[in-house]
Amino acid sequence: MAYSIIPLLTGVRNPDQGIMTYQQGYGKRIWLPIWAFLIQGEGKNVLIDTGLDENELFVPETFEKETGLIAKSLVENLEDHGLTPDDIDVVVNTHLHDDHCGNNGLFTRAKFYVHSDELAFCKNPHPLDHRYDEYFIENIVFTTIEEQQFQVLPGLEVLHSPGHTTGCLSVLVDTGEGRVAITGFCCNAENFPENGPAVCPGVHIDAMAAWDSIQKIKEMGVKILPMHELHIKAVSA
Ligand SMILES: [Zn+2]
Repeated sequence: MAYSIIPLLTGVRNPDQGIMTYQQGYGKRIWLPIWAFLIQGEGKNVLIDTGLDENELFVPETFEKETGLIAKSLVENLEDHGLTPDDIDVVVNTHLHDDHCGNNGLFTRAKFYVHSDELAFCKNPHPLDHRYDEYFIENIVFTTIEEQQFQVLPGLEVLHSPGHTTGCLSVLVDTGEGRVAITGFCCNAENFPENGPAVCPGVHIDAMAAWDSIQKIKEMGVKILPMHELHIKAVSA
């Protein structure tokens, strides 16, 4: 079984590269795209994350001109692929920062997955991590994952990759282009230099765990889609 992966652009921010790469890359402004990923196969429509709430969708004027990319609400993105929120069967939240679950409330028919540690943290966050807002998961009935690795569907698994947050889930997908890993932690291509170890995510609650998690993904030797990389393309089934 092979799935396709389509990145959907739900927003953009303009922070410093250092927010992605721990102790590296400071002083360089970057476009930070906020993707949700539509995965299709086995007769199912799966969303990895639900992106940024459209009320927070403020796109700087120069973004489209510079990148050729257009950020839209998640509903508009789905429309482009002939889908409505009711067509989504499964949603996996890699973690519950506001830019990864901002549209959860749209999917009243979907089955939601999240790691149990992530859900617990979101309900009682430490003030250090200000990116949680329980508002986005109100009324969501989650199936919680406690396993190290868990099969959501045949050929679509999640892997506990803590450090960026406590319950990050990376997603492993069998596609027509081989196995692909969507990192569950926020990073971009700069976190994966060709030589040497991967670079720890710049935002983390446990830097050593985050380092271990990113090495694990790199050492899998599969194609990697870094969660906030600007230059990513769809993957075919
Ligand atoms: Zn993020």
